[in-house]
Amino acid sequence: MVQKAHNLKIAKAILSTPQLVRAKPSINWFFCNYLRKFRVMDVGGNLIVHSHLAPLNSKAYSRFINEHLLSKSIGPSHAQIGITNACPQHCDYCYNKNRTGRVMDKETILKTIRELKNLGVFWLGLTGGEPLLNKDIVDIVETASDNCAVKLFTTGCTLTKQLAADLKHAGLFSVAISLDHWQENLHDQVRNYKGAFQTALAAIDTFKNTDGIHVSVSAVLSKDMLRQETVETYLEFLRSLDIHEVWLSEAKPSVTAYQQENQVITQAERTMLIDLQNRYNKMGGMTINYLGHFEDARHFGCSAGHKIVYVDAFGDVSPCVFIPMTFGNVNETSITDIYHAMLERFPTENTCFINKNYKILQKYMPSNSSIQKDDALKVIDEVEFGPLPKFFKMHYS
Ligand code: SF4
Repeated sequence: MVQKAHNLKIAKAILSTPQLVRAKPSINWFFCNYLRKFRVMDVGGNLIVHSHLAPLNSKAYSRFINEHLLSKSIGPSHAQIGITNACPQHCDYCYNKNRTGRVMDKETILKTIRELKNLGVFWLGLTGGEPLLNKDIVDIVETASDNCAVKLFTTGCTLTKQLAADLKHAGLFSVAISLDHWQENLHDQVRNYKGAFQTALAAIDTFKNTDGIHVSVSAVLSKDMLRQETVETYLEFLRSLDIHEVWLSEAKPSVTAYQQENQVITQAERTMLIDLQNRYNKMGGMTINYLGHFEDARHFGCSAGHKIVYVDAFGDVSPCVFIPMTFGNVNETSITDIYHAMLERFPTENTCFINKNYKILQKYMPSNSSIQKDDALKVIDEVEFGPLPKFFKMHYS
């Protein structure tokens, strides 16, 4: 009976976007194949495939179909914005480590979010620093969540039951709490913060007890975990937390300590994780959403600077959170102008830009900031972009 009601909701969601039939048959076929790797969850009435996509029955999802799939609009679909640089934790792999400047004020953040949505963004990730430390976070979610799926990335520090309820009420659809290890001391160690593990567990509980929020754990895999073949031990621990999803990724060579060949994921490891994701998702229960699957050459590839944009807490604009190069600052220039200038340099390609090109970036990397525009352009001159990933080959042909 429950399954029947669930199937009816999915059918209703699909019927609510009948315009999808106007997409090419090859695109529809591609999506059918992609979506069948995941089980649709009903969370407070939101039908969620995974949290990198907007709920199937949301206005944000309709915008994705109308603007990006059918009208083939030029503009980003996904963006992340740092709403503060303050954070009590100091992760070894933090991609914001070297970013500095004057933090954006509330008006600049709201203006940038409005512009991003006008450009085409239908999915927005709020990051930091620790975004909960921005006292205006509820207003920010409220502004962002109109026609856009908003996801929060947090350590859980300073979360209260009231704040979780206010965020849900403001329109937050999903949250990812960071948890990097099943062993308390190792999680605290990588975050250089005693108590980080217990803070994360408490935040997971609080969000689970907030009606209608999709709760995920953001899990950044270390090379040690891959080498020691303990990823499944970790996933089993996460499954025991009774969460909706694991937002699974690996540490990227964005900061000096990780810019070594033996720290970067290999294609064989990536393929192993994709297989693991697909195997777990067939079991039901918690969804595994491995970003390496989304960004695989057989799916959407690397859309940094084209379909994805990152604005850090100081207003610097980068092609993606993991690429420490800036093409302008929203305190001085509109995000629209910066995006269009960046787009000229960033065609989508089938391989992760930072994994492939970190050695070129190393040559220009200052010790105390991200690579500034003039040097960022020199980096791009040295980069050879690869072919398009499968989705964009079909989309643009
Ligand atoms: S650079 Fe890598 S992490 Fe960033 S958007 Fe591209 S594939 Fe994703």
